[in-house]
Amino acid sequence: MTPAIQYFDLIVIGAGPAGSAAARTAAAQGLRTALVDKARFPRDKLCGGGFTGRAARYFREIFERDLPPEFDSKTAVALYGFGEKLGVIADIPPVYLTMRFTLDDLLFRLATEAGAQDFTGQRIVHMAPETGRVVLNDTELRAPVVIGADGINSPTARALFGRPFDPEEVGFALECEAPPVDPDAILRIDMGAAEWGYGWSFPKAESHTVGVGGVHSRNPDLKAIMRAYMTEFDIAPDMRIKGQYLPFGRARKRPGRANVLLAGDAAWLVDPVTGEGIAYAMKSGQQAALAARDALARHEPGAALMLYRHRLRPITQAMRHANLVRLLIYWGPLQRGFVRAARGSGHLRHDYMRLLGGEIEYSDLMRRLFRRLPGYLLRASGLKQTVQSDT
Ligand SMILES: Cc1cc2nc3c(=O)[nH]c(=O)nc-3n(C[C@H](O)[C@H](O)[C@H](O)COP(=O)(O)OP(=O)(O)OC[C@H]3O[C@@H](n4cnc5c(N)ncnc54)[C@H](O)[C@@H]3O)c2cc1C
Repeated sequence: MTPAIQYFDLIVIGAGPAGSAAARTAAAQGLRTALVDKARFPRDKLCGGGFTGRAARYFREIFERDLPPEFDSKTAVALYGFGEKLGVIADIPPVYLTMRFTLDDLLFRLATEAGAQDFTGQRIVHMAPETGRVVLNDTELRAPVVIGADGINSPTARALFGRPFDPEEVGFALECEAPPVDPDAILRIDMGAAEWGYGWSFPKAESHTVGVGGVHSRNPDLKAIMRAYMTEFDIAPDMRIKGQYLPFGRARKRPGRANVLLAGDAAWLVDPVTGEGIAYAMKSGQQAALAARDALARHEPGAALMLYRHRLRPITQAMRHANLVRLLIYWGPLQRGFVRAARGSGHLRHDYMRLLGGEIEYSDLMRRLFRRLPGYLLRASGLKQTVQSDT
């Protein structure tokens, strides 16, 4: 039997942070929006669940409400670099700790509340995004614009470009959910815990989320690194570990094609220095929806990508800067210099946390770095004492 056809202005594939933000924004703008996901919500997603000040800001702006009071938050972090303690930073902008099972369900509900039509829990049988057709089990969806917010293995990106990611550039992360520890324990971030990557310890009320992630091709035995990292926190070695690709590195040069837009992980929008992906997923989803709205208003669905690229520029620029900063931290000859500079400079450590917290952007960080460059270079070279902090 031929499936019944339903017509929309916009089809959003994937109901994670990017897809729900896109669907909510589009529906609030009056677009008839279909929200498709193979999973039924609530569903889990492998993630540290770190929800920064930037994420909180975007959440308030896009979903038009305050953060749920049950989100844990932390205002201190222990920062390590290549195995050495760089310092404990107190009074950082709050980092909220969430469980994606709950967070994504909330975002999805807020999208459908705004009017997006729910097609979750349905397998995609066939899709031809450029023709605006997505066939599900018992219905066919059609729309002039499609947003692929379908994660790192994005079937939309595969349909457009033949593969969802470049295996040479992609990251990979391993994570475990260990039993909860002292609820007052602070965050810990270990830069260099993996090759061109980092580790994290997020103590939450219901669980202690610990993980490591780095460039996949440079970490052939990430499991051994993860096991060693777990011993730092006395986590039993037989604790279940899960893994997933991580799209950090370069933002996708072409985040879509004509009337098809890619958002969030599908567009490669995870910060390679901080590992932050949720905020950029929500923001890119919102911007994709607004670009779709504008293209439809002009009766030019094929112009959606051009409009979206323009809107996405602040994020793609942040990713470019992040890549530069990543080089300064992780490139072999510079590593020791980075550790010395970061151990000696409270400003540098604090700026990193302000960046993570969304209080400053990479452009601000770069300006500050250049202003303080002489001091950092002296510290990095060992000519200036690192014991004394400049805070
Ligand atoms: C181990 C790990 C730890 C991380 N920790 C953090 C952190 O602490 N803080 C942070 O900000 N970021 C973190 N990230 C990154 C963050 O998880 C992602 O950037 C974020 O989830 C991207 O959101 P998204 O909506 O683009 O994709 P996703 O959240 O992956 O959502 C994609 C959706 O698409 C659906 N989908 C996929 N394929 C199909 C299909 N064929 N048909 C229909 N639907 C489909 C999926 O079911 C899913 O619901 C982490 C990532 C990893 C791997």
